[in-house]
Parts: sequence; C-alpha cells; structure tokens
Amino acid sequence: MSRIEKEVKIGNVIIGGGHPVAIQSMLCCALEDIEGNIAQAKALEQAGCEIVRVTVPNAQGVKLLSSLKESLSIPVVADIHYDYKMALESVAAGADKIRLNPGNLSSPEQVKMVADACRQAGVPIRVGANSGSVAAEVLAKHGGLPTAAALAESAMAQVEMLRRFDFEDVVVSIKASHVPTMVEACRLFAAQSDIPQHIGVTEAGTLRMGLVKSAVGIGSLLLDGIGSTLRVSLTADPVEEIRAAKDILLACGLRRDRVEVVSCPTCGRCKVDVLTLADKVEQMVSDIRKPLTVAVMGCVVNGVGEGKQADIGIAGGDGEYLLFKKGVALKKYPMEGILEVLREELESM
Ligand code: SF4
Repeated sequence: MSRIEKEVKIGNVIIGGGHPVAIQSMLCCALEDIEGNIAQAKALEQAGCEIVRVTVPNAQGVKLLSSLKESLSIPVVADIHYDYKMALESVAAGADKIRLNPGNLSSPEQVKMVADACRQAGVPIRVGANSGSVAAEVLAKHGGLPTAAALAESAMAQVEMLRRFDFEDVVVSIKASHVPTMVEACRLFAAQSDIPQHIGVTEAGTLRMGLVKSAVGIGSLLLDGIGSTLRVSLTADPVEEIRAAKDILLACGLRRDRVEVVSCPTCGRCKVDVLTLADKVEQMVSDIRKPLTVAVMGCVVNGVGEGKQADIGIAGGDGEYLLFKKGVALKKYPMEGILEVLREELESM
C-alpha cells in the first residue's frame, strides 16, 4: 500500500498525499425539500460522512447547495451533467468540488469558463467514466464494449480536456457495476497517473449484495493503494453507505479509530451462545474510539490460541467465560455480567 496519489483539497478536507481515505455519500431527497436534504446531510455527517454530494440540475439545485453550505461543516460537491451555467453558479454558491465531465459540455469555450471559475475559486473538478458514459469513438476502438481499457481511456480523455485549459486540480472516478471491470479499469488508470481516484462500484445494489460488491471492489483497490476517497453506492438509506464505508476501511486496516470485533463461527465444541454475545459485544463497543481488537470465541480449547491476535478476548467454557489478553489466559468470569467485565477492561486499556 505504498502508492500515494496526488493531493487535492476539497474544502476543508484534503485527499491523496497520504491523507486518510475520505468517505462520501450523496443526498437523495427531492431538490425542493431543502429541510429534508439538510436533515439527511446532517445525519450523514453525524454518521461519519466527510464529503457530501448533491445534484445540481437547475436553479433549485443551486438554491439547495447554498442552504447546505450554510448548514454543514463538511465539504459539499455539486453534481453537474450538461449545463455549464449550473457549474458556474455552483462555484459562485460555494461548492467545494464540481463533478462534471467536460465531454458533456457543448463547446471548448464552456469548458474553459468552468475551468477558469474553478481555478479562481480553488475548486477541484471530478471527472470520470462509467460503463454507460463511454464516448462512442472510444467504444468503437474497444469493440463497442465498455471494457476496462475503454473506461480508463475515456476517463483520461476527460482529464485531457481540462488540461487543454491548464486545469490540473482533478479527481478521477471510474465506475462500473461489474466489479472485475471496475477494479481493472481503476488499476489501468493508476498505472498511468497518480491523479487521486474516487472509487466505488456503481449501482452496487441493495444493502447486502451492494455491500459485498463494494467491499470486494473498493477493498481490492484500497489494498493496492488506489483510491483517495470512496463512495459505497447502496439502494438504501445513505447512512448505511457511511457504515459500510467505515467497515470496509476498518477491514482494510486503513482506519483504526474504533474497536474491531472478531468472533469465531462456532462448531461442535461451543457451549455458549456466541452468536448472541458477539452481536452484544459489537453493540457495546460501538462508542469506544480505541484502536483495539476484541475476540469473542466459542471455546477455551481453541479460542484463546485462535484469538491471540486480538488485544483482548473472551472464550466460552461451561457456564463461564475465560478472559484473555494477547492469547494469554487471565481469569474466569460467570456468564452474567461478562459484557460489563469486558467493557471495564477495554476502558482501562
Ligand atoms: S473457537 Fe472453539 S468453538 Fe469457536 S470455532 Fe474454534 S474450536 Fe469451534
């Protein structure tokens, strides 16, 4: 994971340059519902969202963007599609980043106007490609299919369109809902450029499958050192996207700002209810901001050894639990009250 992408500043958040991978999400309330959007953005911020994006297709979107800027402390990204005027108005309204593909604008003059406005305001632009947006000429070169190579080439073409106007303050996103294609495309792009990548699996799906696909796709890239910001796209409450993003970063060893719970799958040796206990432990530690690992294991025979990578753990015995630290058995405790014992130990660590 030694690869480091170029630094880009998005409002008060810096991505790339070795900074933590920033978690983002997108608002999904109706544009007219300003209060609802603000409430959703605040819930996202509360859950750990570090950058929030909102679509700006018209004047109502600009109005919403201004309200969000007044109400939030995290950066707000304006998502523009075809109208360069919306990009200019978003910059004027305080957008911290613009998402726009210059290839969607109708003239080089419009691209120049957007690039100049963003440069003056110090606002980066996210460009990119997804399987539905590859330009016809690029597709033709790649057999008519949005292959990984076509996606990477298409994203680079968007970067080049801004470079023509000396604009380099860019973030690139390459997305596909087919995980192997998305991963390969991001790797191809990373092999050519250190531009920071916004990574994610698009249209990943509902809560469970969307999380699995995102974990595989985003996780594979993060372990390669690719990706400076991420979005888990779920057909679910966007707060779930933040929870999933945090879990993916934790699983990749990129965030140690809370307690990680490991637990055994149980087997015939197990004499305690590990399934219920592991859930309870996860719940109990959710507010402890310490880089610790807790193991919840089903039996003393193997549990202590199998859980020795954990800082602390409990292994089930006959009507009791054995507390251990770093694989060393310490003391037996009755089942009742084991959560409180564990909590006390964690607080003292
Ligand atoms: S820790 Fe014990 S109960 Fe859990 S899987 Fe291993 S052997 Fe089975």
